[in-house]
Amino acid sequence: MEENHTIGWRMQNSYVALPEVFYAKTEPEPSPSPELIVLNYPLAAALGLNASELEKKQGIDELAGNSLPEGAEPISQAYAGHQFGHFTMLGDGRAVLLGEHIMPGGKRVDIQLKGSGRTPFSRGGDGRAALGPMLREFIISEAIHALGIPTTRSLAVVATGEPVYREETLEGAVLTRIAASHLRVGTFQYAAARNVVEDLQALADYAIKRHYPEVKEAQHPYVALFEKVVERQAELIAQWQLVGFIHGVMNTDNMTISGETIDYGPCAFMDSYDPATVFSSIDRQGRYAYGNQPGIGEWNLARLAEAMLPLFDDEIETAIQIAEGKLSSFRELYHEHWLQGMRRKLGLFAEEPQDAELVEELLAVMKNQGADYTNTFRALTLDDWSGMPIRETNVFKEWLAKWEARRARQTETKEESAELMRVSNPSIIPRNHRVEEALEAAVERGDFTVMDRLMNVLAKPYSYTEEQAEYTTPSVSNVPYRTYCGT
Ligand code: AMP
Ligand code: MG
Repeated sequence: MEENHTIGWRMQNSYVALPEVFYAKTEPEPSPSPELIVLNYPLAAALGLNASELEKKQGIDELAGNSLPEGAEPISQAYAGHQFGHFTMLGDGRAVLLGEHIMPGGKRVDIQLKGSGRTPFSRGGDGRAALGPMLREFIISEAIHALGIPTTRSLAVVATGEPVYREETLEGAVLTRIAASHLRVGTFQYAAARNVVEDLQALADYAIKRHYPEVKEAQHPYVALFEKVVERQAELIAQWQLVGFIHGVMNTDNMTISGETIDYGPCAFMDSYDPATVFSSIDRQGRYAYGNQPGIGEWNLARLAEAMLPLFDDEIETAIQIAEGKLSSFRELYHEHWLQGMRRKLGLFAEEPQDAELVEELLAVMKNQGADYTNTFRALTLDDWSGMPIRETNVFKEWLAKWEARRARQTETKEESAELMRVSNPSIIPRNHRVEEALEAAVERGDFTVMDRLMNVLAKPYSYTEEQAEYTTPSVSNVPYRTYCGT
């Protein structure tokens, strides 16, 4: 067979067919001496891209913004957003959308370079990104994917060979992000703020065509579109809660229409269970604390509904009524997904009316005991309580007895229950001190072996191997973990 020497891009550019107000033509700024730092081989294969060609000079030049993939029409996207509750006009200040790649099987995904220089939306920023935060996005977005949670993904990180200036001088880098699309709640807010209904409608039609083609046949396609986004976000946020993921910056510009997790700036996983957990250094009020995520999701969807009102009905009163009706289903949908997920985490098959109470009681004990969230479910799954002092407390023993009684009432065997728990409770998550250790080795010492090992175990979070055991230990540090945005 003849060898194929092309990278394999199949680029199209449907976004540029939207009204011009939605984007600005933007070339990525070249990098002086790009160096490939990491390439995601399984993702390259899934995209139908030839990894061995991406590793060559032409491929690296394309991943660094020095050369454009064949068929690319680069743009930066316009959007707005509520940032910590305050409305602002934004846009891609440090990202360029190269175009949409058609995967084998026909799925259309955005190919975006993040950190590729200034754009018309950069305001005072330099449009650049530092190596550490781009590797962090690479690690955590891939871990979220492996956990089975919808997310944008990371194809590659290249170092640019150019410094970026933050509090200190850092190595610059570009991340290639793959997304179902980069349409955000904030994109609709942008259209609504400009007050041109035809543009808003063009955007909604685009979102339907791209993500929810089935609603085109609905009696009210735009209402049905909103309903779909509500459903997807309710499910997504339930999935975050179930694994203890704290997004950290749930601004409306960081909430997708597709239902994928996006923006891996200040996110982190919770260690000890506490709904008030916040890691982001700038989230001083705890707006985006773990326990607030579902409520913020609903708040953001209310902003989407507001933006879409002119599409719901010509009469504003009727439009508001429709919006409120559809929005009100969020809580119930969220709760259903969350409770179903919790049942699986506890090895419960059928439903019993007291299940929510049983879960809440467990969480209350975990909070009082400062128990590690992931490891408590891991210990329940394995019935191995080494390093878990919660097991010795009377409140927990009482809870265990209730849980055992609940499990005994179901027809499934204990083995079946344990199997359900194994596939529902991650054995490992990207623990903050482990991620930091990997980043330090990579960025400070150019040693990528620590990150490689971490990525390998994170790729199989439900497999409960010996190798993973060492990654389950929580940090012993007394210093609270802090994360930073826009870095
Ligand atoms: P984020 O907090 O990452 O959601 O970013 C909020 C906004 O700031 C977005 O419009 C980004 O494009 C923009 N932004 C973040 N970092 C930079 C940077 N270094 N240069 C220019 N714009 C940036
Ligand atoms: Mg963002």
